[in-house]
Amino acid sequence: MPPIYPFTAVVGQERMKRALVLNAVAPRIGGVLIRGERGTAKSTAARALAALLPDVQVVVECRFSCDPERPTTWCTECRERVAHEDPLPVMKQPTPFINLPVSATEDRVVGTLDIEKAIQKGERQFEPGVLAAANRGLLYIDEVNLLDDHVVDLLLDSAAMSMNIVEREGISFSHPSRFILVGTMNPEEGDLRPQLLDRFALSVEILGLRDARDRVLIMERNLGFEADPDGFREEWLGKEGDLSHQIEAARQILDQVTYTQRDLLSIAALTASLNVDGHRADLVILKTARAHAAFEGRTSINDRDIALAAELALPHRIKRGPFQQAEITMDDLQEKIEQLQGGSTTGEPEPVPGETESVEKKKV
Ligand SMILES: [Zn+2]
Repeated sequence: MPPIYPFTAVVGQERMKRALVLNAVAPRIGGVLIRGERGTAKSTAARALAALLPDVQVVVECRFSCDPERPTTWCTECRERVAHEDPLPVMKQPTPFINLPVSATEDRVVGTLDIEKAIQKGERQFEPGVLAAANRGLLYIDEVNLLDDHVVDLLLDSAAMSMNIVEREGISFSHPSRFILVGTMNPEEGDLRPQLLDRFALSVEILGLRDARDRVLIMERNLGFEADPDGFREEWLGKEGDLSHQIEAARQILDQVTYTQRDLLSIAALTASLNVDGHRADLVILKTARAHAAFEGRTSINDRDIALAAELALPHRIKRGPFQQAEITMDDLQEKIEQLQGGSTTGEPEPVPGETESVEKKKV
């Protein structure tokens, strides 16, 4: 395998990096769509993220990389195995990076059950697909807009459920399928259907960097990496290790991260005020905010977590409104949250327009 460019050496593109890292902390957020022109480090960053993620503990000889600590998610084979082999042996393996070919078919993605064998010999034979290989890892789909819509739907379902269930003629096989979903597309080559767009939890738009100093930095680092990939990786090892540990620590406390009724109101008021279609965005913002709090080592969310999450959850879901043309920024969102809270936390009824004015005049 050729050496992989370090994630922490990617210059700029902070939103993309944040979206990737938060999905790594909490894959159940449901994936990220990266939209941008060619040559903007999309695939480099995704591959680099997988490479720095901590090794995962798996059941030895399980074809689906089952997590020994989550028996409820085990594949059909591990469930059967544990009856005569308890406890199941475990080992560590690197986080897989799976690149989905654009020509992938449904069978190739979900796997296939050999029905003939089942009928003839009474054996259940399952041929694993991409969803099996991607379990516990990162599934990368380059140019997701060119993939068959039905296949994209399957992938998004699986990312949301963390499980792949294949049923045919009364025979069923299931295995865990919990992965970090990363899709990329170049909007110049056709867009995704709006229904599919909305199913990607987060989206980021990336552009080539305009700051000359940043561009110089990109050149210098690329040249450094090309000249001596191993030496370059060595230089960044410390930073890579720090981020890896931070992600691992965040995963440990993610389930403990709490939120209040006020946080939910902030999210709902924000999405309502921005004309966001549907309700998916609200949950995505909450999940992403929790992942961000965990990433910073906290066990409760705050307004900044919400704003940072909204910045990633909203760009592809706002149809009209003040942000249609301009980019939504974290600062805009945080300001908006504060305004909305100001309006709802005073506890006093809104003055009826005109009425207060006339009362004031009478006093004078
Ligand atoms: Zn298994």
